[in-house]
Amino acid sequence: MFEAWQDVLRRIDEAVVSIQRPAGSVRLLAVSKTFPAEAVRTLYGHGQRAFGENYVQEFAAKRAALAELAGIEWHFIGPLQSNKSRSVAEGADWVHTVDRLKIAERLSAQRPDARGELNVCIQVNVSGEASKSGVAPDDAVALAGAVAALPRLRLRGLMCIPEPTADPARLAGQFAQLRQLQQALNARGHALDTLSMGMSADLETAIAEGATLVRVGTAIFGRRDALNRSER
Ligand SMILES: *Cc1c(COP(=O)(O)O)cnc(C)c1O
Repeated sequence: MFEAWQDVLRRIDEAVVSIQRPAGSVRLLAVSKTFPAEAVRTLYGHGQRAFGENYVQEFAAKRAALAELAGIEWHFIGPLQSNKSRSVAEGADWVHTVDRLKIAERLSAQRPDARGELNVCIQVNVSGEASKSGVAPDDAVALAGAVAALPRLRLRGLMCIPEPTADPARLAGQFAQLRQLQQALNARGHALDTLSMGMSADLETAIAEGATLVRVGTAIFGRRDALNRSER
């Protein structure tokens, strides 16, 4: 796992250098979903701090098991149902998948004051696929305005999961759409500093289009097979 993690860090560095962005301008979120808490502990021991989880119960269990790891940062990146928002509001440092006001209102109401502001990204459906979560690009401005006004949340940026496609130009176009939306929001007075986009297979393309945080699972931890998926 150490070598795989190092390889991903090297891929990020090379992508950043090749488009002449400043060193350190892209963070790695290690997506540990379906892998045991011990895998997170090992990677933490090597120096990784930000970890991403998709399933509320798995997130809560892993966070509890690793509570003694100082400075670990938990990012919730899965679909979020209102009735399961509490443990995310209480335990997460970041939520990447806010795509409707109702969920943002619940996170805001349930965030304990003592935990400080919860960093949130709005998930945008850049591919327009009917099956995808995320707010429609045309509705993102209104949602961002409403989310930014809520207490105990800090709107940090935008997140997307592009459509699976073998066409690099199409993929790049979807990442570019997220960046353009960020620019449009910042022109309206927001101060969004985060573009959460890019995964194991496409992080270079995402970085070329402006990603500031890439979410990488498979390339670090290996394939999520039926065995570890059953641990959810
Ligand atoms: C699982 C997941 C990832 C990681 O994907 P890999 O292809 O394994 O790198 C990134 N983002 C989200 C939202 C995910 O659900």
